[in-house]
Amino acid sequence: MSRYDLIIIGAGPAGMTAGIYAVRQKLNTLLITKSFGGQLARKAVAIENYPGFEEISGLDLIKKFEKHLRKQEVDIERDGVRKVKKIGGKFLIQTTAKNTFEAKAVIIASGADPRPLEVPGEKKFIGKGVSYCTACDAPLFSGKEVAVIGGGNSGFEAALFLASWVKKIYILEYAPKIRADEIVREKVKKTGKIEIITSAILKKVQGKDFVDSLVYQDNKTKKFILLKVDGIFVEIGSQPATSFVKGLVDFNEKDEIIVNPKTMQTKTTGLFAAGDVSDVVYKQVVIAAGQGAQAALSVYEYLQKF
Ligand SMILES: Cc1cc2nc3c(=O)[nH]c(=O)nc-3n(C[C@H](O)[C@H](O)[C@H](O)COP(=O)(O)OP(=O)(O)OC[C@H]3O[C@@H](n4cnc5c(N)ncnc54)[C@H](O)[C@@H]3O)c2cc1C
Repeated sequence: MSRYDLIIIGAGPAGMTAGIYAVRQKLNTLLITKSFGGQLARKAVAIENYPGFEEISGLDLIKKFEKHLRKQEVDIERDGVRKVKKIGGKFLIQTTAKNTFEAKAVIIASGADPRPLEVPGEKKFIGKGVSYCTACDAPLFSGKEVAVIGGGNSGFEAALFLASWVKKIYILEYAPKIRADEIVREKVKKTGKIEIITSAILKKVQGKDFVDSLVYQDNKTKKFILLKVDGIFVEIGSQPATSFVKGLVDFNEKDEIIVNPKTMQTKTTGLFAAGDVSDVVYKQVVIAAGQGAQAALSVYEYLQKF
């Protein structure tokens, strides 16, 4: 079994920054991740609020993070973490590929996965019209009519990106009012091909082999309405990826890991969390990266007394 000072779980902005900082503290480090870039890989429009880059695509920013990380002496394992256990002061990490690694400290930087719709038909049509990644799948719907579920900034940004590919977009928002910022709303209006439907409660996704329509209930009139669409893009937020640490950490009401904001440590000594998986209020790249650095430096302090 391979043994490390530190194992980092996840290669989004938090995990990759933690890796860069850990190696600079000469910690023998392994980073285990399912994918590189995390949520940034799903971002459809450019990032305009990461200092040093006035405008950069999510994928380009990830590539820069990854290139920087790979220049360090950090071991990388492309795998999913299935279980984290603490035995006799050390952590055992079990992966989906059935490997086990040991570490003196762990940083959980597993971020968040898209929140599912949880309506009939959703699971059946994943990859057959239901998508959680506008940046990845928009070209597949060229010239078609689609719906974006969710009227927050992410939903509006997704619709804007889709506008250069598809014929018509419906944004369905559950609440009676739109939550997206004014600046993005104006851009959406200018496209002339995006229709916003508020008070729309999605009831089901349907089709034969591929999605051909959805049904929603108008929450004002209570009527059920069928909308003919070829694709459905889900933009209703995300849920923390934490299934592998149950029992070792405390969660808040949003299922985020509660950390000490000074050190990023969880309730278990030697177990830290950083980025969107933590109970940090603002979920942003710069904040996730900052927390990753904070966690790695805290691990270094912790290991001095180990
Ligand atoms: C559509 C969209 C637009 C956004 N726009 C902006 C923006 O303009 N500006 C901004 O600052 N922020 C934006 N954000 C938020 C930003 O992307 C997140 O705050 C940031 O990505 C969080 O980084 P993270 O490292 O904590 O987690 P994530 O980016 O979620 O990365 C988590 C990593 O952990 C891995 N992982 C998960 N589970 C496991 C497991 N069990 N085992 C191993 N690896 C695992 C994943 O594969 C991934 O690599 C946006 C988010 C979305 C979804």
